[in-house]
Amino acid sequence: MRFEISKVLDAIEGRVSTDPSLARAVVDLAEVIRYQDLDGGRPASLLRLGMVIDALARELEEDSIPVYAVVHRALLSDADLTSNERMVVRRWADDGLVEVLDNPGDRMLEVADLLGLPVLTRVRADGLRGRYPWLVEQAGRVLAPVPGAGGPVFIAHVGGGHTPVAGDRSPAGVKLLSRQWRCAEPGCALFGGGGGGGAFADLSRVVERSPAGQPPPTLRGGAPTCPRHGTRLGDGGPRPRSAVLAVRVGGLIRRRFVLTEDQPAVVGRAPDQVGGIVLGQWLNDEARRWISRSHVRFELRVGEVIVTDVSTNGSGIRPGGSMAEADRVPLAPQQSRVLAEGDMVELYPGVQIGRPDELPAGAPYTPTSVMAEAPTMAMRLPR
Ligand SMILES: [Zn+2]
Repeated sequence: MRFEISKVLDAIEGRVSTDPSLARAVVDLAEVIRYQDLDGGRPASLLRLGMVIDALARELEEDSIPVYAVVHRALLSDADLTSNERMVVRRWADDGLVEVLDNPGDRMLEVADLLGLPVLTRVRADGLRGRYPWLVEQAGRVLAPVPGAGGPVFIAHVGGGHTPVAGDRSPAGVKLLSRQWRCAEPGCALFGGGGGGGAFADLSRVVERSPAGQPPPTLRGGAPTCPRHGTRLGDGGPRPRSAVLAVRVGGLIRRRFVLTEDQPAVVGRAPDQVGGIVLGQWLNDEARRWISRSHVRFELRVGEVIVTDVSTNGSGIRPGGSMAEADRVPLAPQQSRVLAEGDMVELYPGVQIGRPDELPAGAPYTPTSVMAEAPTMAMRLPR
């Protein structure tokens, strides 16, 4: 049982991110884990984060939806969590996967405003307005499981002041995210300079945060400030370019990934490369036989996405996303091509990669649960 739980927590770990290109909603972790009505269980449980993420994935009809979690520091020593759960949250904090704050205040709303993301909370919009008059309650956008009629629900609040479209950053957000920032505090998990690391640097985790994935600073008196340390951030120059691509298998987006000029990405059945995108778990036997361990490589060069086939069997390009067989352009092994607007790379019928907004939705399948390994819990999603 203990082993199963830690597998679920590992799966949830893949769904928390402070990367502005990947996060799809903002949550207050303390609120989510104490949402006891979700399962009627312990006063606090980290598994509830998985339930909320699942609900969001179903709502958005996409697998692997990361959330941006703001965490009150007291949670790292919360006695209502198991020691294993506390350890996991501390690890997320150390790795900068979540944002830990002494006093979160309305940072959750600030992040939502800067990034143009919905806030998932049980607090009704009128209780949250004030500094954020753009908060609106979207009818029919209830995102979390409801345990009973009239019971508490999570409500998506989306920005409406600067723009009616969720996912559009506020002007301040666009400005802040055009630069990279440096925190003077040594070892800052959010705005660290990379490298350094002191006596145990060789023992620290190899995966270094790319400045392209830095979270948005908080604004204090108009100055970009580290939300964790309260120190003013130094401007580290323009933020590196990045591009987001999505893998779609069987009509459903399974995951998104970020490309930077320093970090190409290899996609395949089971690539050996660090940061490789593994497709194996979504493929049927035939697709698994056809698709190579490493099948295609994506690079970002001067803002252009270049795809190179590195497979045995080759791939195809669907220009402008056209599904007509006559339009399909073969991409032979070792051949490269610039991925033009709307283009989709096809590794095998139904296995496609492209820019997420250009991959039409309409999924015939339900997303895979992040809770797959956990004891089953009854869930009901109001529509
Ligand atoms: Zn800092």
